[in-house]
Amino acid sequence: MSILINGIGVSGGIAIGDAYVYSREQEEVHEYRIPVAQHKKEIQRFKKALAEASKQLNEIKNKIADDTPPDILAFIDTHLLMLEDPTFNEGTIANIKNFSYNAEWALNIQSERLVKVFDEMDDPYLRTRKDDVLHVVRRIQNCLAETPDHVPDPTQLKGRIIIADDLTPADTLMLQHHKIAGFVTEYGGPLSHTAILSKNIGIPAIVGARHARKLIQSGETLIIDGSQGMLINSPDYRSLKHYRALRKKDVARKTLLNKLKFVPAITTDGKAITLHGNINRPEDIRALKNFDDTGVGLYRTEMLFIERNEWPDEETQFKTYKRALFRLKGQPLTIRTIDLGADKEIQDTIDQGPMAHNPAMGLRAIRRCMKEPELFIPQLRAILRVAALGPVRMMIPMLTNIEELKQVQALIERTKKQLIKEKVRIDKKLQIGAMIEVPAAALAADAFARQLDFLSIGTNDLIQYTLALDRIDDEISYLYNPLNPAVLQLIQITINAGKKAGIPVSLCGEMASNPQYTRLLLGMGLEYFSIQANALLEVKHIINNSNLSRLRSKIKKILELQSTHEIESEINQLNQREAEKYNH
Ligand code: PEP
Ligand code: MG
Repeated sequence: MSILINGIGVSGGIAIGDAYVYSREQEEVHEYRIPVAQHKKEIQRFKKALAEASKQLNEIKNKIADDTPPDILAFIDTHLLMLEDPTFNEGTIANIKNFSYNAEWALNIQSERLVKVFDEMDDPYLRTRKDDVLHVVRRIQNCLAETPDHVPDPTQLKGRIIIADDLTPADTLMLQHHKIAGFVTEYGGPLSHTAILSKNIGIPAIVGARHARKLIQSGETLIIDGSQGMLINSPDYRSLKHYRALRKKDVARKTLLNKLKFVPAITTDGKAITLHGNINRPEDIRALKNFDDTGVGLYRTEMLFIERNEWPDEETQFKTYKRALFRLKGQPLTIRTIDLGADKEIQDTIDQGPMAHNPAMGLRAIRRCMKEPELFIPQLRAILRVAALGPVRMMIPMLTNIEELKQVQALIERTKKQLIKEKVRIDKKLQIGAMIEVPAAALAADAFARQLDFLSIGTNDLIQYTLALDRIDDEISYLYNPLNPAVLQLIQITINAGKKAGIPVSLCGEMASNPQYTRLLLGMGLEYFSIQANALLEVKHIINNSNLSRLRSKIKKILELQSTHEIESEINQLNQREAEKYNH
């Protein structure tokens, strides 16, 4: 019987192949006590397991190194580094010494502690990093139990769809090396390393398909649709025919998009459009460079603060920004000063005073920085210093009025003077821009544009503040629509203000990464997009097939409409017509 299973699609594309159910049961971990005289021996046993786990990972790395780019191999390095991390090792050893636990139990207790720390994090990406802890612990536990590393028979893997409980990055890379067609896991979320990895290497993948191993048998034919997160087993002839046709189309599309790597984005009537990437950490530049040799239009620096759970010092920041700049190899880096508060928060270290009722409207981003200049100045100093080494720009989030901007500019000037006095090399002409993400700033965009070197529209917040919608509240997400005429007017005002003042205006909110809005934004006059790395080629494809002057007149008419639904329907129709015309 054919059944349909839903999970979370994490890497698009259609795969059709026979199932390979990859079952490995984890040995249960038991607690027992070790006599004090044997502690040393038990610690040795634990260290031996660590060394064995590291050996296994290095063997996998060496085996697949030839056909795997170094940036993708780095996912295994994350696990190798964890094996050396003192919080991991020393904590476990302390549990053996202090409580006489056996190594397995000591490790179990330590891993529970670490998982709890990750579980309590607000940031969804960091929360998922607990998966890495669990993967590493599982490997060490297997080494302690001296069970061999479960590796499926490589001769059986080519063209198969793997069904597993969970896959570590090392498993995923190993399986891809054996040319599997796709994979499905019962656990894991969209932000797990395995999900990110599958997207990077381009195999269709679904995670979170609960009970898949119970419902599917090895050898059954499977179809997986990685975009929809859907899996069908033993499909009938009609489904097979349908999905084979879809797969063909999908492969043709990927081939077409791949040809656009490193090609400039230019409309058919010759307008060059800048496409930059958004990053959260220097390591994200790897993914960006897979798609294009381009710069960064938004580096959200708060990750550096959130991951450390404290405000890092000037030197740490300088080194981190320098790493990002050097990885870009001459392409520009736009560093956004910290945007902490509301949905992005550091725990523990800051006395936040009484809980704000509306944190998104409270002491957030530049407001917080100006309230605590002693914490902000190290970031300003680090950015001014790194800008002396290459093309760096500084971007200020959440400005609401010109007085605030003037205060920030005065602080930057004072910081520059101090650095010059200390004879530190800086970029005295560092370009400074503002994020336009509050309606008041959009309405004052002319004034901002006269004072600054560039503007960047943050639609994620602009929509939130214009429509009075909490951007992370699921209950009202149906109202969260970039096509609301009020939002579009504010975007248009900002683009026009930039043109009038002769400065670039970019859009770095999620709206720019959605190909559905590319023609709309081009028609509104946007010439600079800063987007997610995996949207680069799709957006470029649309740009390279668009005639700007024709789009402008069409969009002008659409913008006269008063209702979100009317605008949405017109944009959909325009997209469909244009796509058909260019055989999109
Ligand atoms: C935005 O608000 O659109 C933006 C890019 O900033 P963030 O999502 O980091 O608030
Ligand atoms: Mg924002």
